[in-house]
Amino acid sequence: MRVLIAEDDFGSRKLLQNILAEYGDCDVAVDGEEAIEAFKIAWKEQKPYELVCMDIMMPKVNGQEALKAIRDYERDSGIKPSEEAKVIMTTVLDDPKNVIDALYKGGASAYVVKPINKEKFLKEIHELGLL
Ligand SMILES: [Mg+2]
Repeated sequence: MRVLIAEDDFGSRKLLQNILAEYGDCDVAVDGEEAIEAFKIAWKEQKPYELVCMDIMMPKVNGQEALKAIRDYERDSGIKPSEEAKVIMTTVLDDPKNVIDALYKGGASAYVVKPINKEKFLKEIHELGLL
């Protein structure tokens, strides 16, 4: 599985990489702008990400905006729903507005509140049909 981890905090990035390393090939982006760029490049190289772990609070472009850009790109490129990336929001923000914006308006696949627990996170990925 190809994974993109979009996360500005080194510790969180490292943790996700450690959890996912044995299940996939992980790339990292340190802000939302880089995440969008990486996502598009992967499609252009015909090696799209199956999973994107998206932090919300990131510099330049936040995770909600990056999520929207990714979904817009998929739609504008005519990517079939079955080929859309699963996007898990990984964030300390647990307020209803952020959850609703991500899951219902933004088209995120799942929402995980930090601190991330390895077993729970893997269960989430399993439920998305990725493991
Ligand atoms: Mg952050």
